Amino acid sequence: MSKVLIIGCGGVAGVAIHKCCQNSEVFTEICIASRTKSKCDDLKAKLEGTTSTKITTAQVDADDVNQLIALIKEVQPDLVMNIALPYQDLTIMDACLACGVNYMDTANYEPENLDDPEWKAAYEKRCKEEGFSAYFDYSWQWAYKEKFEKAGLTALLGSGFDPGVTQAYCAWAQKHLFDTIDTIDILDCNGGDHGYPFATNFNPEINLREVSAPGSYWENGHWVEIPAMSIKREYNFDQVGQKDMYLLHHEEIESLAKNIPNVKRIRFFMTFGQSYLTHMKCLENVGMLSTTPIQFEGHEIVPIQFLKALLPDPATLGPRTKGKTNIGCIFTGKKDGQDKTAYIYNVCDHEECYKEVGSQAISYTTGVPAMIGAMMLLTGKWNKPGVYTVEEFDPDPYMDALNKWGLPWQVNDNPELVD
Ligand code: NDP
Repeated sequence: MSKVLIIGCGGVAGVAIHKCCQNSEVFTEICIASRTKSKCDDLKAKLEGTTSTKITTAQVDADDVNQLIALIKEVQPDLVMNIALPYQDLTIMDACLACGVNYMDTANYEPENLDDPEWKAAYEKRCKEEGFSAYFDYSWQWAYKEKFEKAGLTALLGSGFDPGVTQAYCAWAQKHLFDTIDTIDILDCNGGDHGYPFATNFNPEINLREVSAPGSYWENGHWVEIPAMSIKREYNFDQVGQKDMYLLHHEEIESLAKNIPNVKRIRFFMTFGQSYLTHMKCLENVGMLSTTPIQFEGHEIVPIQFLKALLPDPATLGPRTKGKTNIGCIFTGKKDGQDKTAYIYNVCDHEECYKEVGSQAISYTTGVPAMIGAMMLLTGKWNKPGVYTVEEFDPDPYMDALNKWGLPWQVNDNPELVD
């Protein structure tokens, strides 16, 4: 029925591609294109014979708009799925506009080089105006709204788990459970153990930047920013148990604050063990998380990229990881004049994910919604010209697809609340 160009072939893309191949009725043909073509060829060899989806591969540097345009013209896809890195969001959106093709991704734009003067000036202005200092934000991609509208094309931003599924939970709660939502707490718990003293579950550079940044939350119409890891809570997660969790800035807070009417507070918490935090603090203190290039024995190196080369590749954690993830949203608000609470969440088992697609649950919980977001666009369920986040569409077909394609969710009407 449709042809898709998938850019990137890392941990998350690997799962999304497996899932597209399980759903050949929608994904009749896919082209996997990435910087390292051999990874695309290896995955193609693994999947061919198990699926009726036709698979081709290509090499592309997605930082280069001209290369992307040439590839899109050659492949002629109905949709480009960007599952490379957030650094490539804008170049891929530009190429989609130039070729008249719909776009989707799993994370919002941030620049690779934080010293770029043009980006830095806009960043400093935004920090002052908005009041949060994370390097990533939606402004860069929201700026494409008019261009996509005029071109009659849809761009779906952030269809992973968080962002992504968490916003579908919010839209579904708004549609079916509440008249007004007062507070949203997004809780992201990974109870998995991979046996390494320190490793990240997805791209280390993106992950460590996110976690080492100041935290922030939305309250009464504005951002409140706090030092990194300075708000800690304990929570007893279904099927995982008691965990420490910390308040982080997270990208979906920005769009939810705009799209959930009259919401008073939105926070995001993620669980971390003490070993992870101690390693991260130490690496940060010695400068290993820096993105500023340094000279070392005649070579220019970027410390965080060198660190990435030393750390285990997240795509290899699958066979070692045991335990479960539990990610969801706790809502408080009103229905028919009465106070109401609800907790919508998914529990995912690392070992089950590995058995099914050869990946751990973090890649799985992101790659499945990437396939589902693409399916919403390809089947015409979520088409409106412009640039949108998940909560701006009808959540019902997406929530049904989560149950069908491996991320079933449940609702607890009487959850423990986070103070
Ligand atoms: P990986 O590092 O495992 O994979 C990234 C892939 O992109 C690799 O195949 C890499 O190629 C390719 N790539 C990088 N730069 C380029 C380039 N210039 N041109 C072409 N290909 C390129 O990352 P993950 O799979 O862990 O993450 C993928 C995305 O998912 C990220 O944007 C991440 O932020 C997002 N994410 C979203 C989550 C959510 O819940 N919404 C959760 C987790 C991740 P090569 O093999 O050559 O390095």
